[in-house]
Formats: sequence, structure tokens, C-alpha cells
Amino acid sequence: MIAAACEMQVDAGLKLLKMPGAARAWRALAREAQAQGQGYDAFLAALLDAELQSRRENRLNQHLRQARFPQVKTLDTFDFTAQPSVSKPRVLGLARGEFVKHGESVVFVGPPGTGKSHLATALGVACIQAGHRVRFTTVTALANDLLAARDDHSLTRVMRRWRAIPLVILDELGFVPLSTDGAQVLFQFISDRYDHGRSVIVTTNLEFSRWTEVFHDAQMTAALLDRLTHRCHIFEHRGESYRFRESLQRQ
Ligand code: ADP
Ligand code: MG
Repeated sequence: MIAAACEMQVDAGLKLLKMPGAARAWRALAREAQAQGQGYDAFLAALLDAELQSRRENRLNQHLRQARFPQVKTLDTFDFTAQPSVSKPRVLGLARGEFVKHGESVVFVGPPGTGKSHLATALGVACIQAGHRVRFTTVTALANDLLAARDDHSLTRVMRRWRAIPLVILDELGFVPLSTDGAQVLFQFISDRYDHGRSVIVTTNLEFSRWTEVFHDAQMTAALLDRLTHRCHIFEHRGESYRFRESLQRQ
């Protein structure tokens, strides 16, 4: 077969087989193999590796999109020296994603701007890299979704769909007061996750003693905290807003 026809056939075949990573890489790999006198088996191994690598990247990007992080943040951009009350080794330990397998929860509590959402997101990204599916939502958005589902009698189905996601990040508990109904469905949501061994990460500006302000009912709050803190990693952020401090330093 003449070279041009052969190339066309390889391109077409890889396209039909849906192997975009191999399609992108095969020419360079073939040239390299020829230049270095590699055998056919080494070339084939390199080609398969290129395809597998590209699939891993695509899957990772797809899972990152599905997580709907408002901003992608990572652990390597978090300055732990600015937040010494949060233990870096403990956070890095969680970044391996084992806590998701065990259905454990994580709570970041502290004043605004101290990196709670940053760390929650970064842990979420790390858990995606560890192979878990993750979804980020604010508490308010979730409560509204659940209430809408309850109103059109699809709450059971919607809950089941959330249950399929092993890690849900609930951002900003306590920032906006919830209605009594909103609090009720949120309680149901967190209980459901606990009962099915599913993890949550919660960020909040309210220490636990003030959670009745969100859930209104003292008994319900106690029941919720009992479930949430049963297998839980708690991080207390302290101090002033990171951004505020940065802008002070600039001036
Ligand atoms: P919170 O959720 O506690 O209100 P954020 O996580 O949203 O705070 O942090 C506010 C901004 O400051 C974000 O852009 C975040 O990336 C940044 N930030 C906060 N703390 C740190 C830190 N210790 N190191 C690096 N960036 C930080
Ligand atoms: Mg936040």
C-alpha cells in the first residue's frame, strides 16, 4: 500500500474506533519508533498508552464539568501558613478520597473569606482525581431544588438521583436563612445521605451551637448534628478574610 493511502486508512480506522488520543499521537510515535529502531510491540504499547492517557484526561474533565464547581480551586494554591488552625496533613490525608469510600463527612466552619469554599472545592477536585463522582451546590440552591421536586411529587426520585453521587459539597450553610420547609427538606437530604453511607462536605459560617438558626427546630437540629458529626472531619477556620488581608498588605 502506498504511504498516503495507508495514512488515510489509519486515520479513518482510529476515527471509527473512537480513539482520538491514538489518532493524534500515531504519526509522531511512528516516526519516533522508526528513528529509534523500536520494535512493533513497543510502538503498539506507546500508542495504546497515548489513547488510555487521553481517555483518562477526558473522563477527568467530564467529571469536573459535572461537579459544577463555581471556580476550580486546588490544594496546591492554598496557603496553609495563612490558616494555621487548619492542619495541612489532615487535609492532604482526606485528599486521597478514602473518606468518600467510608461515607464520612467533612465540615469547614469559620468566618467569611477564610478559605472554606476553596478547601471544599479543592478536596472535591482531589476526590474526582481519586475516581469519585462529586457535585457542588450551595445550600440555598439545593433547598430550592428539593422544594420544587417536593411540589411536583418527584422528591423521592430526585433524592435517589443525588444518592448516586458519592460526594456532595454543600456550600454556605447559614449564609441565607432557610424557610421552615427548606430546612425540612435539607434535613431529609442530609439524613438520607447518612443512612446510605454517602459523604457530604459542608461549609458554614455558623458554629454547631447556632445551627438551630438555620433549621429552626431544636430537635431536628440535634438529630441532624447527631448524624452529620457521627463520622466527621471538622476543620475550624479562624482569623480575618484572606482577600482582605491581601489587599491590606498591598496598600
Ligand atoms: P470562604 O468560603 O471561607 O468565605 P473562600 O474559600 O471563598 O472563603 O476564600 C475567598 C478567596 O480567598 C478565594 O479566592 C480563595 O481562593 C482565597 N483564599 C482564602 N484563603 C486562602 C488561603 N489560605 N490560601 C490561598 N487562597 C485563599
Ligand atoms: Mg465560601
